[in-house]
Amino acid sequence: MCLFCDIAAHKVPGVYVVNETDMTISFLDIAPANEGHVLIIPKLHVDSIVDLPDEYVQEITGVARKLVKAFEKVYGAKGYGIMQNGGANCEFGHFHLHVFPRLENDGYDWIYPEGEKEVSEGVAAKLKNAMPN
Ligand SMILES: [Zn+2]
Repeated sequence: MCLFCDIAAHKVPGVYVVNETDMTISFLDIAPANEGHVLIIPKLHVDSIVDLPDEYVQEITGVARKLVKAFEKVYGAKGYGIMQNGGANCEFGHFHLHVFPRLENDGYDWIYPEGEKEVSEGVAAKLKNAMPN
């Protein structure tokens, strides 16, 4: 069990739930990129998309799509951000998908590490060949 498992079990006070389904619970991030920033979590303790059953992936994606529609209605947002860090980079050790509205000139930006990175047919082929069927 972890903090997010406790949130899924409604054991944590002060959590602002936006949506709940049989497989997921969605709530406001306490450190939002923009107002309306929501975390969607499965009611299943896994830290990586690799371990997330297909039906959960589908459910989480469906909830994300509904949230994006809500962002349009509530904020007039014409764009959105969806982010997920997994495995060893998953904070709290429990899969969570960040979904937040993007507003014009909101100042949000991705910061990439400095340095050259190869973009080539070789890199594409390496990944293509390593992907399971
Ligand atoms: Zn958990």
